[in-house]
Amino acid sequence: MKIAVIGGGITGLSAAWELQKRGIEYTLLEASDRWGGKVISSKLELKNGAHFLVEGGPDTLITRKPEAWDLAAELGLLDQVTDPGSETSGTYVLDQGSLHPIPVSPSRFFSTPLLTLRGKLRMLAEPFQPARRDDEDESLANFVRRRLGQEALDKFIGPVLGGIYNTDPETQSIMVSSPIMREMEKDGGGLFMGALLRAFRAPKKKTGRPRFVSFKNGLQTLTDELSRQLTGDLRLNSRVEKITRAGSGFNIFITDGTTIHADGIILTTLANQTSGMIQEISPAAVQKLEAIRHQNIGTLSLVYLDSDIPSEPVISGLMIPRREKRMIDAVTFTTRKMPERSTAGYSVVRIFIGGGAPEMVDFSAPQLIEAVQKELAGLFGITAVPQTWTSFRWQNGFPQAEVGHLKRVDEIEKLLPRSLALAGSSFRGIAVPDCIRQGREAAAKLSETDAFG
Ligand SMILES: Cc1cc2nc3c(=O)[nH]c(=O)nc-3n(C[C@H](O)[C@H](O)[C@H](O)COP(=O)(O)OP(=O)(O)OC[C@H]3O[C@@H](n4cnc5c(N)ncnc54)[C@H](O)[C@@H]3O)c2cc1C
Repeated sequence: MKIAVIGGGITGLSAAWELQKRGIEYTLLEASDRWGGKVISSKLELKNGAHFLVEGGPDTLITRKPEAWDLAAELGLLDQVTDPGSETSGTYVLDQGSLHPIPVSPSRFFSTPLLTLRGKLRMLAEPFQPARRDDEDESLANFVRRRLGQEALDKFIGPVLGGIYNTDPETQSIMVSSPIMREMEKDGGGLFMGALLRAFRAPKKKTGRPRFVSFKNGLQTLTDELSRQLTGDLRLNSRVEKITRAGSGFNIFITDGTTIHADGIILTTLANQTSGMIQEISPAAVQKLEAIRHQNIGTLSLVYLDSDIPSEPVISGLMIPRREKRMIDAVTFTTRKMPERSTAGYSVVRIFIGGGAPEMVDFSAPQLIEAVQKELAGLFGITAVPQTWTSFRWQNGFPQAEVGHLKRVDEIEKLLPRSLALAGSSFRGIAVPDCIRQGREAAAKLSETDAFG
């Protein structure tokens, strides 16, 4: 039995890893000239030798979902894991042009001007709201509105969740992005009681794992090590054009003119890339794949002298709701979170683009830096020219899991042969641990002989 894995991002690499562990022959096909997909760590250097480690895509991994940690352990990478600190410490939200700290502590909650007294009381009344116990999907916005009120949604929970998922909370599926919140409501009747119940039932064991992790030399450590330890047939610069059925298996046509035969396929490309490859397998599945929306996304990392960055307020991140109509979506002061990634005396600022102003991913370099500098001047008073900068951009590269998404994915899978599996960020979760899980599960599924029945 031979399996072809298409796409060499974290999902494809994880699928190949699982196949290898199960002793199954595989070919891994990646269109570009590098492994890792959106996992990309890069080094910037100035003429004076100052150097910086920046991430183009993901920069931290949540450990509540254990798949990335477990994979790092299997690969022998735990000695390289670092703790980047909690996601919300020092995080601000932009509201009507002003910066406000996200009220995460009780004292911040009571003193914040971000919420009115009425809005705060509504949030405190969360335990008394009627609970929904079915398994039907709803939008993130609807859930927050029901449990915590419109103000909490508008003023900080919406911007934070919208920022994390680079999406509009009004359309985002809660069952994909935060199923744990619905589980807490189902178990405990609400978020507050659900959290208490969880703490009571499973008192926090000391796992020795920070809540979020990264790697000393960047997240690409994980994908680099995976590709290094994979011993199968690995092919870069191999863009798959189309797949056709051939007997009980498949023929895979690569743009360089070669054709590969495989008994099973794991497609780890985005839904909007996958749809083009399987036109001859299932036009009905293609139609449903094309209905999954993808948004533009990109990041810029800009290096400044410390003295160019105002010292107050001490911000580690800023979430920008779409209603603020800015050209950028979020800002991370990377050096404040991970000072070890930068030569002393410099600050690295990372900007997220593509949500509020999708056209930014198509800007020329001078247009892009000009637009970003204008925003940084307006938001933080940073007027200096960066010492150096770099950008990473993905057109239609960020899947949007809208309400009903999981049902649609189930339907797509039913339309495809069982020996052709889908995995990756367009399907059952976008975070890196979700992608690892999906890649490995697809490999496990195909390794069962009845997938070929
Ligand atoms: C800016 C940004 C920040 C993020 N931050 C985080 C974070 O902090 N934490 C977190 O957990 N997640 C984060 N994510 C999400 C996470 O990084 C991605 O969902 C995940 O890396 C996707 O991996 P993948 O392998 O499924 O897809 P991709 O990385 O997109 O890989 C797909 C691969 O398929 C290849 N390909 C495409 N077409 C073909 C073809 N025809 N033939 C062969 N190969 C093809 C592509 O070249 C690519 O290498 C972030 C994402 C972005 C963009």
